[in-house]
Amino acid sequence: RRDTLLYLNGVTKSFDGFKAINNLSLVIEKGEMRAIIGPNGAGKTTMMDIITGKTRPDKGEVYFSGDVDLTRHDEAAIASMGIGRKFQKPTVFESHTVEDNIRLSLSGPRSVLEALVHRKDEAERQRVEAILETTRLTDKRQIFAANLSHGQKQWLEIGMLLAQDPELLLVDEPVAGMTDAETEETARLLREIAATRSVVVVEHDMHFVRALGVKVTCLHEGSVLSEGTLDKVSADPKVIEVYLGR
Ligand code: ADP
Repeated sequence: RRDTLLYLNGVTKSFDGFKAINNLSLVIEKGEMRAIIGPNGAGKTTMMDIITGKTRPDKGEVYFSGDVDLTRHDEAAIASMGIGRKFQKPTVFESHTVEDNIRLSLSGPRSVLEALVHRKDEAERQRVEAILETTRLTDKRQIFAANLSHGQKQWLEIGMLLAQDPELLLVDEPVAGMTDAETEETARLLREIAATRSVVVVEHDMHFVRALGVKVTCLHEGSVLSEGTLDKVSADPKVIEVYLGR
């Protein structure tokens, strides 16, 4: 369909005969934010690895932006098609300022020297300003990344991904280790980001998922167990059984 951005169709991936992903089908719309939940071992990480080309599935297709089958492309090609992934642990350039971290991540051909020295391009300057604003780091721009709080480092890494202007942003447990205030701010921040692109968030923190207020997909044994609003999914007897039976 025209408003579909990502479509996983019957994806299966086994490790030593064990199906980590089992005939998984999933649709993410353009401009949608989706939360992916599920107990440990449900296949969340493997699903993200398959979307980004880190892992190749045994079966099935992953269509992005129409008819591009991502399973036929490698990790670098997929990243360049407009899929950004944020891992749980932030990886920022600690000895650079916040602003330079973003500048160094801007998409488009440039050398490191160009990125740091040529600050005159107005369009580029505005992009950096917008990203600093979105990630709540405008007043931290001159601070070395090493001196940010854990939460601020997570936001900076999201900013570095935004600098690549992805159409789809994949985020792995962004609020792990954050304060309550940072967690709430992260929900607002991601909702703002989702106004202009699609976002898939893997998350364990149900307070945070509630704050996101988006459609939820619960994975179990590599397939979709339940899908819908958080209220609907968390009241689903199948979901309750999976979480309580552990
Ligand atoms: P989740 O992220 O939901 O906790 P994972 O995708 O990490 O789940 O794992 C799903 C299942 O696949 C788990 O049982 C895990 O042990 C297994 N698995 C994941 N990656 C590998 C691998 N590289 N080799 C063997 N087993 C793996």
